Amino acid sequence: MTQNGIFLLAPTIFEYGTDEQKARFLPRMASADDLWCQGWSEPDAGSDLAGIKSRATRDDERGGWVINGQKTWTTRGAFCNWVFGLFRTDPEAARHSGMTYLMVPLDASGVTVRGVERLDGDEGFAEVFFDDVFVADDLVLGGVNEGWGVAMATTSSERGLTLRSPGRFCAAADRLVDLWKRQAAAGEHPERIDSLRSDVAQSWMEAEAYRLATLADVTGLVNGVSQGARSSLTKIFWSELDVKLNETALRLLGPAAELIETSAGAVDGGAWMKGFEFALSGPIYAGTNEIQRNVVAERVLGLPRK
Ligand SMILES: Cc1cc2nc3c(=O)[nH]c(=O)nc-3n(C[C@H](O)[C@H](O)[C@H](O)COP(=O)(O)OP(=O)(O)OC[C@H]3O[C@@H](n4cnc5c(N)ncnc54)[C@H](O)[C@@H]3O)c2cc1C
Repeated sequence: MTQNGIFLLAPTIFEYGTDEQKARFLPRMASADDLWCQGWSEPDAGSDLAGIKSRATRDDERGGWVINGQKTWTTRGAFCNWVFGLFRTDPEAARHSGMTYLMVPLDASGVTVRGVERLDGDEGFAEVFFDDVFVADDLVLGGVNEGWGVAMATTSSERGLTLRSPGRFCAAADRLVDLWKRQAAAGEHPERIDSLRSDVAQSWMEAEAYRLATLADVTGLVNGVSQGARSSLTKIFWSELDVKLNETALRLLGPAAELIETSAGAVDGGAWMKGFEFALSGPIYAGTNEIQRNVVAERVLGLPRK
């Protein structure tokens, strides 16, 4: 099962999908018969998502669209069998218009998926190339040329309520408290351990604050108040909490933090360094935190655009 499916695409299908699309995609997503990745980024379009160049051209005869272009940084793309993403369907339209949200089977003729090697040896990212790939009309999610609004619903799920559950950070904060206790009990480097007490407590409190804020957001949703642009605030909070929490663990461990899982003496199987490395990507994926701060300034606080 991939998070891109159940946490990002599923809420969007609930909101924008036809009954046929709900019946076709949601059960197979839940049973992991279909694994989904997301195709927003392109070599020249990251933060500036409206700069995408991949095109889908109308094919009336076959009743669908012919896609040409390239997506990049598709998380778990190397293992998935479907991608959802934005494609330009009206090149004459204004930048944020003229795009359509399409769902594309990765085994379709003309699709090439090329895995991207990572420095840490783990696999998963891919580049996806489209050469005259045909998709039928029933793979359009939302309206033709209305993809931007549909994509914003998906990104709001990614930044806000669904991708990063509070349980993830509360569990990590509990592990951090446990690590502090074990390090303190070991009796080595007492000054270092003592100086990090308040950082450990701060991480635990922030995880708890995130849990409570999420419950407040869920209560709001039940009462018909959606997160909207405030999901950007949420994204900044969880991604920076994750970095600080893992960084505190590395400082607690000192040089031992460098030991990888196969090394004798690695603490918790070297998981804290792995956690830190992954946390560093949090302020980048799901829209960088610089961009989210712009969104918060303009759309939550109503400050003027610079
Ligand atoms: C772990 C990970 C997983 C990812 N998974 C996916 C995926 O599954 N699918 C997908 O489509 N993409 C994915 N991405 C790509 C991600 O969406 C982009 O990296 C991100 O949107 C930033 O785009 P960019 O890398 O092109 O950087 P750029 O847009 O080139 O930005 C470079 C720097 O400039 C800053 N910047 C740019 N514009 C502004 C501005 N207007 N104001 C202030 N600062 C600005 C940015 O904040 C950043 O620091 C993933 C990235 C990572 C790290």
